Amino acid sequence: ATLIEFKKVTKAYQIGEVKIQALAGVDFSISEGEFVVILGASGAGKSTILNILGGMDTASSGHVFVGDQEITGWSEKKLTEYRGEQVGFVFQFYNLIPNLNALENVEFATEVCKDHLDARDILHKVGLANRMKNFPSQLSGGEQQRVAIARAVAKNPALLLCDEPTGALDYVTGKSVLKLLQDLNKETKTCVVLVTHNSAIAPMADKVIRVKSGRIESITINDHKQSVE
Ligand code: ADP
Ligand code: ADP
Repeated sequence: ATLIEFKKVTKAYQIGEVKIQALAGVDFSISEGEFVVILGASGAGKSTILNILGGMDTASSGHVFVGDQEITGWSEKKLTEYRGEQVGFVFQFYNLIPNLNALENVEFATEVCKDHLDARDILHKVGLANRMKNFPSQLSGGEQQRVAIARAVAKNPALLLCDEPTGALDYVTGKSVLKLLQDLNKETKTCVVLVTHNSAIAPMADKVIRVKSGRIESITINDHKQSVE
């Protein structure tokens, strides 16, 4: 079934006299359980798509559907609820709370969620069973990203949105983080949408949406998705 649909979505930023057309009419759909990569150069509009999808930003025009609901036009209150309960976010630079340890970072995020998973179980699953009491500064980049992923999936979200999740990591660590995302997608059927400029990640997705200058350049399905080893 279709989980997400973008229909003729535009986004313009007005900076004084200058209008920046970040998205110029974007159409795509994503199915339940899909692992999707949104690929494009810097400035193409990838983060804008992700932010609109996650309810952190709103479209200038067009329609965005998640499940059977149209989120375009929702109030800030409804969007905050949607973000808190249905969307997990993973960023390039982890965005952990520095004065909370790994376990507290995950628990803090799940407090507002009715249907959340156990923080300890999730940290176990991401390979950090023995690092729960460590603060972010005591963890390597890859470990911090695992905490961030644990935090995001502990909400048991419908959607996991990842903005350049391996961008700050070396090749080997990045691969292990991708493998974790792929495994979680397979196990939990949570839909993963990953934004990157790195075309090497494309073969690992079910669907690749290429974005260029605020438009969709192409959408391809990988019949033989590559498993990260
Ligand atoms: P990408 O994620 O592909 O690098 P973005 O979605 O961040 O691209 O940006 C798309 C375009 O919109 C760029 O030209 C960028 O400068 C512009 N843009 C993004 N956010 C803002 C903003 N808050 N104000 C003004 N322009 C923005
Ligand atoms: P990287 O090579 O990715 O930069 P680090 O050198 O930061 O990794 O860390 C290597 C290992 O040492 C990691 O497992 C990290 O969690 C651990 N570590 C680093 N600093 C501390 C610390 N202050 N307390 C406990 N463990 C630490």
